[in-house]
Amino acid sequence: MTSGTPTNGSHQRRALHLVFLGPPGAGKGTQAARLAQSAGIPHLSTGDMLRHALALATPTGLEAKQYMDRGELVPFPIILRLVRDKLQDPASARGWVLDGFPRNLEQARAFAEMLGELRREITRVLYFKVSDESVIRRLAGRRICRRCQSPYHLEFSPPKSEGICDRCGGELYQRSDDVEAAIRTRLRVYADETDPLVDFYRRAGVLAAIDGEQEIEGVKRAVDAAVAGASPRAG
Ligand code: ADP
Ligand code: ADP
Ligand code: ZN
Repeated sequence: MTSGTPTNGSHQRRALHLVFLGPPGAGKGTQAARLAQSAGIPHLSTGDMLRHALALATPTGLEAKQYMDRGELVPFPIILRLVRDKLQDPASARGWVLDGFPRNLEQARAFAEMLGELRREITRVLYFKVSDESVIRRLAGRRICRRCQSPYHLEFSPPKSEGICDRCGGELYQRSDDVEAAIRTRLRVYADETDPLVDFYRRAGVLAAIDGEQEIEGVKRAVDAAVAGASPRAG
């Protein structure tokens, strides 16, 4: 992508290829949705894609369900197909916010290869640092819109009217994996499989660590600063 003649059209801006990394419940989806909307690029959440496939009862969705309910990773071929389709979509030409992918080194290596083929580069990986204790409180109180997938929290981000999405009027529900046993498995899977990606991307020179313990507004400012390239905090 070149930026030859100066224009005031936003389409001339450098494409933003962002990856949001961090434990389940860290606040990635909350910030990714907001940032994607303000930047005018798609929010690509593999979890949302899988839940959407499940709601439509597609073979992919039905196969993924057993893994998701236990808090385990869904087999890689399914994920790869979903992500590849989205990255090749014309809607992704100006950038994207990837949320929930890659989830382990195998995925990160395949992702790097895919980006090479598409001649794209990761702009930045935002790593949301949050303690296990906060993650558990956030996941236990999380509610999701059935229609538009917007996340809410009973205590930290309640909807204006109980059980109803502010944005689209859809019904809020509790994810079947936001229960204690699955949360425990997800935290273990995160520590074993996903956390090594922090070093992987730090060594690649693209990591920006975000203090995810702050309240939503504070995290938002940190995300915007990291995306603007303003001195991301050291990891
Ligand atoms: P992730 O996508 O990383 O799993 P979410 O964005 O879904 O995380 O956030 C998990 C839960 O925590 C949601 O209920 C959300 O409303 C809430 N939440 C998100 N960010 C914060 C924050 N900074 N402080 C407190 N609660 C938050
Ligand atoms: P959270 O951010 O709360 O952990 P997600 O919505 O990202 O949850 O993911 C929910 C579930 O979907 C995961 O526990 C896993 O089963 C599956 N999943 C999502 N993304 C991936 C991925 N990249 N690879 C494998 N499984 C995935
Ligand atoms: Zn909604």
